[in-house]
Amino acid sequence: MKFMRAEITTEDFLQEFGRLCSEISKTSVPLDSFFSLLTSERVAKPFPVMTEAITQIRAKGLQTAVLSNNFYLPNGKSFLPLDRKQFDVVVESCLEGVCKPDARMYKLCLERLGRQPSESIFLDDLGPNLKAAASLGIHTIKVHDPETAVKELETLLGFPLRMAVPNTRPVRKTMEIPKDSLEKHLKGLLGTQATGPLELLQFDHGQSNPTYYIRLAKHQLVLRKKPPGTLLPSAHAVEREFRIMKALANAGVPVPKVLDLCEDSRVIGTPFYLMEYCPGLIYKDPSLPGLEPSQRRAIYTAMNRVLCKIHSVDLKAAGLEDYGKHGDYVARQVQTWIKQYRASETSTIPPMERLIKWLPLHLPRQQQTTVVHGDFRLDNVLFHPETAEVLAVLDWELSTLGDPLADVAHSCLAHYLPSSFPVQPGLSDSDLSELGIPTAEEYFRMYCLHMGIRPTENWNFYMAFSFFRIATILQGVYKRSLTGHASSATGEQTGKLTEFTSNLAWDFAVKEGFRVFKEMPATKPLTRSHHTRARPQSLPRTPGMRSYVTSTDSSPAHVSKGALVFSPEGLSPPVRELYQRLKQFMERHVYPAEPELQHHQTSAEKWTPSPLVEDLKEKAKAEGLWNLFLPVETDPEKKYGAGLTNVEYAHLCEVMGTSLYAPEIFNCSAPDTGNMELLVRYGTEEQKARWLIPLLEGKARSCFAMTEPQVASSDATNIESSIQEEDGVYVINGHKWWISGILDPRCQLCVFMGKTDPHAPRHQQQSMLLVPMDTPGIKIIRPLTVYGLEDAPGLSGGHGEVLFEQVCVPKENMVLGPGRGFEIAQGRLGPGRIHHCMRLIGYSERALALMKARVKSRMAFGKPLVEQGTVQADIAQSRVEIEQAQLLVLKAAHVMDVAGNKPAALGIAMIKMVAPSMACRVTDRAVQVSTDDGSLIRLNHLQQMQNSLSFSCPTSCKLIAALCRTLTTGDFPFPPQKNPMRGSIPTFILNMWKQKQRKVK
Ligand SMILES: Cc1cc2nc3c(=O)[nH]c(=O)nc-3n(C[C@H](O)[C@H](O)[C@H](O)COP(=O)(O)OP(=O)(O)OC[C@H]3O[C@@H](n4cnc5c(N)ncnc54)[C@H](O)[C@@H]3O)c2cc1C
Repeated sequence: MKFMRAEITTEDFLQEFGRLCSEISKTSVPLDSFFSLLTSERVAKPFPVMTEAITQIRAKGLQTAVLSNNFYLPNGKSFLPLDRKQFDVVVESCLEGVCKPDARMYKLCLERLGRQPSESIFLDDLGPNLKAAASLGIHTIKVHDPETAVKELETLLGFPLRMAVPNTRPVRKTMEIPKDSLEKHLKGLLGTQATGPLELLQFDHGQSNPTYYIRLAKHQLVLRKKPPGTLLPSAHAVEREFRIMKALANAGVPVPKVLDLCEDSRVIGTPFYLMEYCPGLIYKDPSLPGLEPSQRRAIYTAMNRVLCKIHSVDLKAAGLEDYGKHGDYVARQVQTWIKQYRASETSTIPPMERLIKWLPLHLPRQQQTTVVHGDFRLDNVLFHPETAEVLAVLDWELSTLGDPLADVAHSCLAHYLPSSFPVQPGLSDSDLSELGIPTAEEYFRMYCLHMGIRPTENWNFYMAFSFFRIATILQGVYKRSLTGHASSATGEQTGKLTEFTSNLAWDFAVKEGFRVFKEMPATKPLTRSHHTRARPQSLPRTPGMRSYVTSTDSSPAHVSKGALVFSPEGLSPPVRELYQRLKQFMERHVYPAEPELQHHQTSAEKWTPSPLVEDLKEKAKAEGLWNLFLPVETDPEKKYGAGLTNVEYAHLCEVMGTSLYAPEIFNCSAPDTGNMELLVRYGTEEQKARWLIPLLEGKARSCFAMTEPQVASSDATNIESSIQEEDGVYVINGHKWWISGILDPRCQLCVFMGKTDPHAPRHQQQSMLLVPMDTPGIKIIRPLTVYGLEDAPGLSGGHGEVLFEQVCVPKENMVLGPGRGFEIAQGRLGPGRIHHCMRLIGYSERALALMKARVKSRMAFGKPLVEQGTVQADIAQSRVEIEQAQLLVLKAAHVMDVAGNKPAALGIAMIKMVAPSMACRVTDRAVQVSTDDGSLIRLNHLQQMQNSLSFSCPTSCKLIAALCRTLTTGDFPFPPQKNPMRGSIPTFILNMWKQKQRKVK
């Protein structure tokens, strides 16, 4: 009693109880298994007859209560092995601190029910409990055995408590059918001996097609009819149900025996068919309460087997070859259900919209054709009451010919629904192994094993589709409930579950993935590629309109040009191998060389080539890691380079970008790469022999001279330098600046851009000329600095301001021809324009890696910096931004691969905006966590990084340069109060400067 009043714990109780038992029996009593037996199903299982009686009592509008002498379980919950929902009031001794036969217990219950003792009947098996109830004036029934007790209760209440036919109830008002006309029809069908009153009940389920129990004389029948009202197309086809059941019965599939199909709507208002009533058990709750784990397993196994039997029916022998279309079942189903959904749509449900797009794109590629049930689930299977034998499979409304896996997936829906799901209770919150129920995966494997097939890979697609279908059915029920024709009282409520199930469907779609991404690895040819679609002449070009579309009708030409590979793992085996070798080379040779190369760069020898670089170049060449930049498009025969696509090179270039010294070591540095490509594309054989070969061999370097101080050179039509033909030679006069590489002593070639004809159309005035650097008249005025840094060789060979005065160049040095400078520029600045961006991804990765290493090792305020939320946010932000930029780089590269440089211009422009600013932000964050440190190597690395950034984004890198220098030298270049750019200086720089000032003071 103490235990039941929760005055002692389970442990204390067992100890005390054991002691007493041993004392009384004078022998040791082991109590180990007592508690588990007490709480096991064997002892605590509710009696079905009682459960049924409770349902009937409540159906009459009476109240029910349970008075339980129970206790707390070790998990802190009270032990009540009953469905609480069956009772209006639950009184538990351990919660109340009183237990039967204490009168307070009964009074409490009556109070909560709001009833008098004389209005109540109390059932119990223990005399003292009954006595206490009787003394309060409550009617009592002693329960010797449940059946007799229920009979006694029936007498007291005056109405039956046992349903003659399980799962039935009186016919609902809206579902009534004309009895007289039906009786007449039945007598005609069954013969004259079928006389007597016609008993009509309605089955609980049959949400879609109302289903009735009929007793007429000795006949017990089931009638299934179409619902009344306007119906969705092709739904509720009872005629087909009749046909398939008849055929399957002959093929040995357990189905109820069908008797008659009546298509004459005059009889009961709609077509219907009749079958024999088949007594058996329907398990509505998939957790199969009241059964042992082994029985549950047997039930699921039997269900699985019968499904295999349905799917193994010989269509021809069963006469079902024309029962549905052959092949493409899922595709058709997807369309049918989309249509059904649209027909019953009441508002926009976002996951449904996503599924409507996703499903048709992810259809299974191979499908079998068998009979499919279409709604195969546990509560559509009738079992033998005592064994796990399947007596009949019911509800064939959605049956057809189709992909059997759709049935298998459908029969696993309950596995993913919660037990509280109103339409169909599920198992998602149950411990399946404890219950003995196979998981969805086990169930699926079991099926494959029986059928002798291999498990499919796109199981999640089938699940997504199944849930989409359920969502659509629920939506249909919902819509019908709005018009008052739903065959279930819960119609309105179920309809609202559309969104819930559609979300489940979308979860499976996400698990299945997106084919467009899954199929990206280069090992498979690209099936969807970006390409231009011819614009109809009549359509004007809309500014900012996207020029590239994803299309499935890519031409084979595009397919052969390359794939959009998102990660190095997706590269083709030879390129992946190249990528791996490049990475190894970086790790073995390049990173370890950085300190020495940095030292060289700041030493007095900075304008002479580093011997270490020359040595590493030879090594790289020997290992085949050389001239990787030349796109296969430019060099299809791989005469000069590695023959990579732009996308492939992007991955390799990214690796090179992680070290500022790497590009030169692999002969992949600007501006040589652009010049070499120019020569490969447009150079004559002589020009190639003279300039290209030494450049390809890494023996010479080159520069590109376009920008001029006196004109805005971002608009190259402004370029004023003149190229004039005189006495069989071209004479050049002009002033150029920012000419990268010109200060390198190895620079032998200058690709010069200037005007040959100032009177020609705007884009035909400029030409490109190959100028040997040893030609007289070339005067380098000064090396330019980017905020004090000269970019000595190793990075970009310095940037020079140069005068060209009466420089004479042979006529054969003209590239492609006079006036064709723009044409060439467009070609030259294709891939070359985004190599910087590709490298910037690598730079940023390196900065982020440095940042991460730094924040892990640096302690501030008692913990590593990495534990600071803002630092974590910075790291996360950097990761996100790098990934975004990388995707855009790859996209631009891919468009170049499949469509060419011109169509890729927009993408190139975009990434030129995105990559440098991203690199600045990522680098800045890395600088932020390194500011209070004397680790100059790291800082130098960051400092140097800005030099390379300057190629693409001079303005933003100026800020980083300033910051870096402040940190290393303490000398801020432009005190804010005097600086005209003040408004644009980020706050962090101003703060840094102020801090510095304070320190100095
Ligand atoms: C480190 C470094 C290396 C370089 N290497 C070389 C080299 O090797 N060879 C070479 O020839 N040049 C080189 N340059 C020069 C570079 O190509 C030019 O700076 C660039 O083309 C811009 O020309 P500009 O300096 O005359 O600027 P301007 O043309 O005067 O432009 C000034 C600003 O106005 C903006 N602008 C221009 N037009 C528009 C518009 N329509 N709308 C909005 N904004 C606009 C520009 O983006 C820029 O921000 C290098 C520059 C740097 C910093």
